[in-house]
Amino acid sequence: MRTVKAIGAVNATDPLVPLTIERREVGPHDVLIDIDYAGICHSDIHTIRGDWGPIAYPQVVGHEIVGRVAQIGSAVTKHQLGDVVGVGCQSNSCRTCAQCEQGHDQYCLNGNTQTYNGVDPADGTITQGGYSQAVVTNEDFVLAIPAGLDPAKTAPLLCAGITTYSPLKHWKAGPGTRVGVVGMGGLGHMGVKLAAALGAEVTVLSRGVKKKDDALAFGANRYVDTTDAAAMAEMAGSFDLIISTVSAGLDITTYLGLLDVDGALVNVGAPAEPFSVPAFSLIPHRRTLAGSTTGGIAEIQEMLDFCAEHGIHPETELVSAEEVNEAWERVLSADVRYRFVIDTHTL
Ligand code: NAP
Ligand code: ZN
Ligand code: ZN
Repeated sequence: MRTVKAIGAVNATDPLVPLTIERREVGPHDVLIDIDYAGICHSDIHTIRGDWGPIAYPQVVGHEIVGRVAQIGSAVTKHQLGDVVGVGCQSNSCRTCAQCEQGHDQYCLNGNTQTYNGVDPADGTITQGGYSQAVVTNEDFVLAIPAGLDPAKTAPLLCAGITTYSPLKHWKAGPGTRVGVVGMGGLGHMGVKLAAALGAEVTVLSRGVKKKDDALAFGANRYVDTTDAAAMAEMAGSFDLIISTVSAGLDITTYLGLLDVDGALVNVGAPAEPFSVPAFSLIPHRRTLAGSTTGGIAEIQEMLDFCAEHGIHPETELVSAEEVNEAWERVLSADVRYRFVIDTHTL
């Protein structure tokens, strides 16, 4: 057992505070990672605020982790001391269910181990995330960060990147596909860059015009201000695939109406509020409303390699441990351009 410094929550409402947490001994298949960077995902905030149900405190969140291998277990073969590595949303899974066998550990039928607020199969404790100095993770759930990626900008790929890449691939976004991305925050801006790199025709749907120039710079072909009713009406029936990354309740019917026949709206945003979906927003155009979560370990590695190959990186703002509470407030007011990353050396 070792203790490391962290910043975390002691209840649902108060600001995060400095904490000391314990990390398990490095087992034969474990890797000890000295964390350098941890991205701030809106899911961190939903979790701590109890939006998805009650949790146990204290809790350290963070599932966009990049660091260096500091120690390896006796049986580790996949990683070496000093390697630049990452950890995303899941840190283990059963490996034997039908989904794990297909490499879809994000859909493990026995419930995978979330990097934070999960139950660690190694010792039964509640997992604690990346807003900390170090983490011990099973080698199979540690990603190799390709040499072409800047470690300081890479952490957001481990959640925001894969959560948009996976549905883009599953619904076959590519040349000739008309893709809409709703909400341009951490996930949304990665969705735009990745869809554009896959060759799709990309439209950003965002509130107001503040993000228009950025959207076009990230590779979007078109920008629609969702508060402009006439501009929205013009887009009716014009998309094959829409990915909603909105973190708050959304009038989903409006967006279903933007799909062509056989179009799919894939919701990855996870607001506390349920959606209301009239049957006839789906039936007449054989539309699909779907959800998607992160991606499997193999797909995350594929996405990292894709980003290195295409020179794609998240737009990040580096913050110190002292600035994390302010960063959370700015995420909540959609004042993030486009992902905060904690420099964990400041803990
Ligand atoms: P984020 O950076 O805060 O971006 C969310 C975006 O949603 C904002 O930039 C804003 O876009 C839009 N938005 C926020 N409040 C809104 C409102 N009241 N009405 C309409 N639009 C609003 O958050 P994120 O980290 O990208 O995460 C987005 C959501 O995805 C969160 O709910 C998060 O929990 C969820 N998530 C899910 C998965 C998964 O596995 N499915 C993985 C990661 C995150 P504009 O300003 O451009 O309108
Ligand atoms: Zn996340
Ligand atoms: Zn499984």
